[in-house]
Amino acid sequence: MRPPVAEGVGGWRVHLRTLHANVYLLDGPEGRLIVDAGALPFAPQFARLLRAFRPDALLVTHRHVDHTSGAFLAARRGLPVLAHPAEHPFLAGERHDLPLRVPGLGERVSRVHPKVPPQSLRGVSPGEQVHGWTVLHLPGHTAGQLGLMRDGVLIAGDAVVGSRDGAHLPRPVYSADHRGAEETLRHVAELDLRLVLPGHGPPLTPEQVRRRARRGEVNS
Ligand SMILES: [Zn+2]
Ligand SMILES: [Zn+2]
Repeated sequence: MRPPVAEGVGGWRVHLRTLHANVYLLDGPEGRLIVDAGALPFAPQFARLLRAFRPDALLVTHRHVDHTSGAFLAARRGLPVLAHPAEHPFLAGERHDLPLRVPGLGERVSRVHPKVPPQSLRGVSPGEQVHGWTVLHLPGHTAGQLGLMRDGVLIAGDAVVGSRDGAHLPRPVYSADHRGAEETLRHVAELDLRLVLPGHGPPLTPEQVRRRARRGEVNS
């Protein structure tokens, strides 16, 4: 196995796999969690990850299909799929919302993606603890986006994305509420963190996130 992207997180280690979006494997004294489930073309890899890693639960940070397409495989294995209640109708396929540039295309794309049976979904709320990790609400990109934080490490979903030149926000067209996403980023920048693990791209330092948050203040 490749080296972890974080260790010593209250006795937990975090490994990263990129299945289009980032998938994080968390293991520690209280158990094992997998955060996000990758994009549909990577479903076979996600199935292999589930078999090898044997998590207790899957947490999906938000509804978008590049983070959730393997979730049905976790449900099939009997795992609970944890998500903010605002995301449940989209994960279950009762509603469709995928922000793409062509009107109507997002819904068509969403409809062809496998969904999670409602009985596998579990609501988690901001402030709750999941295996000792604190659940944070990171709204804007979607209404019910969640992060997980522990010992200065934040798994951030698409509240921030990484690239070689630093921290960014998803393009406004891909977020339900871009101003809300800017506000959430300012909130993240104020947290006492040592490492930020984004939904796309490499791990970020808190300083990279603060730099992007300050740029947002200038632009808005
Ligand atoms: Zn997203
Ligand atoms: Zn994404």
